Amino acid sequence: MYVCSIGKAKVRKQSGLAVITQHQIPSLYIHIPFCISKCIYCDFNSIVTKSQMVDEYLTAIEQELQSATGRHSFGTVFIGGGTPTVVNEIQLDRLLNMIAKHVDVHNLKEYTIEVNPGTLSDEKTIIMKNSHVDRISIGIQSFNDRYLKLLGRIHSANEAKDIYFNLREKGFKNISIDLIYGYPAQAINEWKKDLRECCKLDPEHISAYCLTYEQGTPIVEMTDSGTLKKLNEEEELKMYEFTNDFLCDNDYNHYEISNFAKRGKECLHNTVYWENREYIGIGAGAFSYVNGERYCNIKSVKEYISSSRSKKRLIYFSEKLPQKQRASEILIMALRMTSGISKKEFAQRSGFDLNELFEKQLNNLTQAGLINFDDERVMLTRKGLSVADSVMMEFV
Ligand code: SF4
Repeated sequence: MYVCSIGKAKVRKQSGLAVITQHQIPSLYIHIPFCISKCIYCDFNSIVTKSQMVDEYLTAIEQELQSATGRHSFGTVFIGGGTPTVVNEIQLDRLLNMIAKHVDVHNLKEYTIEVNPGTLSDEKTIIMKNSHVDRISIGIQSFNDRYLKLLGRIHSANEAKDIYFNLREKGFKNISIDLIYGYPAQAINEWKKDLRECCKLDPEHISAYCLTYEQGTPIVEMTDSGTLKKLNEEEELKMYEFTNDFLCDNDYNHYEISNFAKRGKECLHNTVYWENREYIGIGAGAFSYVNGERYCNIKSVKEYISSSRSKKRLIYFSEKLPQKQRASEILIMALRMTSGISKKEFAQRSGFDLNELFEKQLNNLTQAGLINFDDERVMLTRKGLSVADSVMMEFV
């Protein structure tokens, strides 16, 4: 039997018949772990595409979808990667059809797909539109061709803009652009130019991440060997602060450490993660969080496919966090949002009184000007946002 232990369907009796009632889960994530080539900074679970493997992978995720979704209904769907649009037109159509077969896509609050320039044809855009996808997240990363090349991106700035205009022309009204800053040799003026270019396009949402150096990635080897030189923390901080000011001046709401949205266009799917609510992840390496328990699927794409084929368990790791650790996570994730969390909400979600659990930390951080903590809520200050990682460590 195909094994999926996520969540338990509630069974109620009605007129003598057993009826499966669906468990409401806020979000469904589907991972497509294929890319044309690897970017030098990437440590996401992705491999270079092989068309036959894509077909086998789609068969595997369909099995997992069938098993997991039969008992659940969802508010948002997010197809991420990797590069979901690297699959060919027939495969994309197959993927979106299988989702529509298992999920009520007509009643979703948000249906996002990640797109990378250099992988999107007109036909794929039409397939997405006809399949009720209503939000596109484009990985543009930079509008500077020199840096796109350095980072190992497969597209130019003009190709990225063309994709954006094409998506608009096809009727997509909710587009997010991903940008990266703080990479070796980047000057603050170059980053300012990127932000200006981005705002000229007027997307509904912008994610602006400072480059992180993940062990095992080529960029770390290059900086360790001296081929590339990292920016220092002060330079990165200046870029972060400029980003916040500039995007707020351009009518974007800074609603999460690295995320900005026009009013009402905040990403509902990611907000589920930040609010520590339940989600199901489908595909290699995907995480799920249901009934207070966290699960992770087998990471290797090959193993995921072969386990699915031989009807073996796809989950390789699961844990139920102790209550206090869970409370800690709830606070840490909530502090990523600029609105923070109310004491009442914290108590409802964690079962703890915020003051009692973290009194010392909250007092120290308030005195240091890193958090605002009053009778109602706790949230990071502007100063706290720029050193968010260190602030979060206080609650671990
Ligand atoms: S496109 Fe994204 S997932 Fe693919 S290699 Fe580049 S950063 Fe990684």
